[in-house]
Amino acid sequence: MNIILMGLPGAGKGTQADRIVEKYDIPHISTGDMFRAAISNGTELGLEAKSYMDKGALVPDEVTIGIVRERLSQPDCDQGFLLDGFPRTIEQAEALDGILSTLGKSVDHVVNIEVEKEELIKRLTGRRICKVCGSSYHLIFKPSKEDGVCDKDGGELYQRADDNPETVNNRLEVNIKQSQPLLDFYKAKNILTNINGQQNIDLVFADVDALIKSSRN
Ligand SMILES: [Zn+2]
Repeated sequence: MNIILMGLPGAGKGTQADRIVEKYDIPHISTGDMFRAAISNGTELGLEAKSYMDKGALVPDEVTIGIVRERLSQPDCDQGFLLDGFPRTIEQAEALDGILSTLGKSVDHVVNIEVEKEELIKRLTGRRICKVCGSSYHLIFKPSKEDGVCDKDGGELYQRADDNPETVNNRLEVNIKQSQPLLDFYKAKNILTNINGQQNIDLVFADVDALIKSSRN
């Protein structure tokens, strides 16, 4: 089962990814992990990527795509994989199709966890961090016992600068603009499924699970 997981920041992609890889025993392939592995293994492409990252430059597509190709060629991907954070552009999506077809594979499902923007803003701006221990709380989902105070050490809770509504809204807008063409691309291929991400976490996973199960039989 070869799956691409999509969803805006705050949609709960990480939680669903954890559950999918646990249940279906397939590797979770995120772009960040892939880069870190290629760099720590000292592969040629890893070193090339590192040279760009060290300069603070964007890693060119051909390097990223090469790293994806190396990763997807590994034996642990034989029974499937969950791609997360790649592709980000149509060019990368087309390159991915090329890689997979040389490996005799294809994308089975693109799972898009859908959550309305207003709800995402609520989720993303509610995060609070302890000044003392760095513990993370959430005004709605994981409130501290006493308002603004850490349960563990009584430290003051603060909101990170990039969690303010304006920054969060901008971040979401950038992501929406970036992901829409990809969603259209996969919709046209008939492999896109939108999952309602505004249900509780168990129900979201039940929907994802039903989709994967239905296509295995
Ligand atoms: Zn604390």
